[in-house]
Amino acid sequence: MPLHQADGVVLTRYAFQERDWVVVLLTPSAGQVRLVARRVRTVRGGVAQAVEPLSLVRVSYFERPGSELGTLREAVLRRSSFALAGRPQAWAAAQVVAELALLHCPPGQPAGEQFRLVDHCLEHLCTGGDALIVAHYAELWFLRLGGILPGPDRCGRCERPLATGPLVVDTAERLFVCSEHRPPTGTLELPDAAARWLRQALRSRLEAMASPAPPPLPAWLAGLRRQLTERDLSSLTYLHGLVGGHAVGSGR
Ligand SMILES: [Zn+2]
Repeated sequence: MPLHQADGVVLTRYAFQERDWVVVLLTPSAGQVRLVARRVRTVRGGVAQAVEPLSLVRVSYFERPGSELGTLREAVLRRSSFALAGRPQAWAAAQVVAELALLHCPPGQPAGEQFRLVDHCLEHLCTGGDALIVAHYAELWFLRLGGILPGPDRCGRCERPLATGPLVVDTAERLFVCSEHRPPTGTLELPDAAARWLRQALRSRLEAMASPAPPPLPAWLAGLRRQLTERDLSSLTYLHGLVGGHAVGSGR
């Protein structure tokens, strides 16, 4: 069996047989990778500690061609998720990023850009970044990398540059359109604030984003993802509940 080495982010893990974990990683060259970590549930430290959810690890593993499950040989921790553990909103946002990666990155397909996106989001959360900003940014970028989100700079029909300011979406064709190619029905307008956020997110790193995405951008992005993956994100619903609950609580 060939031995592979890769950096990976632990997206999730689950119990397998009596003493094993199945660890699900996102790797740059092989996308989603599922590895059995043997006898780690009964020991502390070492590999068991390295494969904590949301940590960045360097792994070596064996994989039989055609098999869905590889075997983890070694895991070395590169960035712990410990910094997220005491912060419920940051932890929930990291779960959103991981769930998006599970949806958008199938096994066996290179995912270099998606891996860098996940790593950037988790790093930002570990250093105190805002939870909702990260969740919205990740949702947007997974759609962009998947070729689902159109570019906002040119009309999707005539290729003429679009002016700054509000954007009009042809919802059926999933295109931004100029005033001439705006269909009579089936449009969504992104007001100036939402359009500015989208444009900035597509050319900036997270450090430059000052606020979460204004409405109706988050709902539109979630709709695009549901069209593509036919899935709701339970982690995102949970995060919105946490952030909403916090806002209510702190307003008293
Ligand atoms: Zn046009």
